[in-house]
Order: sequence, then structure tokens, then C-alpha cells
Amino acid sequence: MTKKDLAAQTVASLKKIYPDAICSLTYRNPVELLIAVRLSAQCTDARVNKVTPVLFAAYPTLDSLCEASAEDIGEIIKPCGLFNTKARDIKALALMIRDQYAGCVPDSMEKLLKLPGVGRKTANLILGDVYGKPAIVADTHCIRISGRIGLTDGTKDPVKVEKQLRECVEPQEGSDLCHRFVLFGRDTCTARSPKCGHCPLSGFCENPAGDVKKGAIEKDA
Ligand code: SF4
Repeated sequence: MTKKDLAAQTVASLKKIYPDAICSLTYRNPVELLIAVRLSAQCTDARVNKVTPVLFAAYPTLDSLCEASAEDIGEIIKPCGLFNTKARDIKALALMIRDQYAGCVPDSMEKLLKLPGVGRKTANLILGDVYGKPAIVADTHCIRISGRIGLTDGTKDPVKVEKQLRECVEPQEGSDLCHRFVLFGRDTCTARSPKCGHCPLSGFCENPAGDVKKGAIEKDA
């Protein structure tokens, strides 16, 4: 089976299981999504979803975020961890979006990567979810599952995973596929002890039992 065929089968199977693939972070506009993604580094989406309503109630507009002190932002986002760095980034990116991008989250990878604290994973998520552009969010679930299925060569390097998936996944399917990988990675293809015996992808997955076979063990994300 070619990689493209494998990717098409994976997309079709996961679409059946998770017809509604959406980001598990809650947000009302692109700026809120960007901030929620920044907060989600080394933090669960569930916790971020508890903190962001408080943050956005205190600072409901881009201007109000720009005027806030990093210390005050940090107090609110403390439960998300790494709060000093995250608070500095949130204030700095709010200022940059207001002053350099006329209040709009940019729609290109190049510009997104210039925002403080924004890497390719975040930029891809914005491009896919906000602008409907082809995107691959190479997070821990995407890296692990695509390697097990055989869509990648098993590399853990997110840039290589993104490149390899872009070569085999239909561009319009990439963003949703990555959201589905997150749900599938929590339910079935877990980091430890994947449920291969009950997996609907087991008929074509190239590495059932996944990384366990290779001796590499990851922590659940
Ligand atoms: S067969 Fe196992 S390793 Fe392959 S996708 Fe399913 S749960 Fe993951």
C-alpha cells in the first residue's frame, strides 16, 4: 500500500469514528485561540478551558490585554504552569497583533512564527482552524500515531513529521486529521498500552502495538 493510500484509509476510518473533529480548546475568536494554544504548552486542554474564561472576562478586548501587566495576567493563568513566560508572551503577542497586524491574527506561517511564543505547531493550528488552510499540527498524538500507522518513518521530530504527512495526506484533510488523532490518541492509540485488539485501524496499521515494539515509551499527553 502506498503512503497516500494508507493516509486515505486512516482519514476515512477516523472520520467514521470522529465525524466532528474540532479543537478541544474553547475560544470565541482567533486571538483567544492563539492565547489558549499558548497556555496549553505543558498543560491539559481541560485546565486551559477553565482558565481562559477568567482571563477573557478580565481582559475582554485586545486593547485591554495590551494594557494589562504581565504580572496581572500571570496571576490569572498560574494554574496553567510556566505562567511568567506565558504571561510575557501573551502581552507581547497582543501588542504585536494590535500594533503590527491591525488587530488581526496573521494568516501566513511566516508572520505567525514572528509572534512571541508561537512555533510551527501553534501556527499550523491557526492556519487550519481559523483560515481553513492546509495544516499539520504535529503534536505528541500526531507524532506517535502517524509513526505507528506507518505514515511517517517513526521520527519524533515534529518538523519531519509535518513534512512527511504533507507528502501523503490530502491537504484539505490535514487539519481535521490532527484533531482526530488527539481524540484517537486519548481513546485507543494511547502512548502506553494501545488498544490494538479493539482498534478499527488494526487491519492496515503497520506497527500494531506501536512504539512498545521499538522499546520507546512515551508519557500520555
Ligand atoms: S493498531 Fe494499535 S498501534 Fe495501530 S493505530 Fe490501532 S491502536 Fe494504534
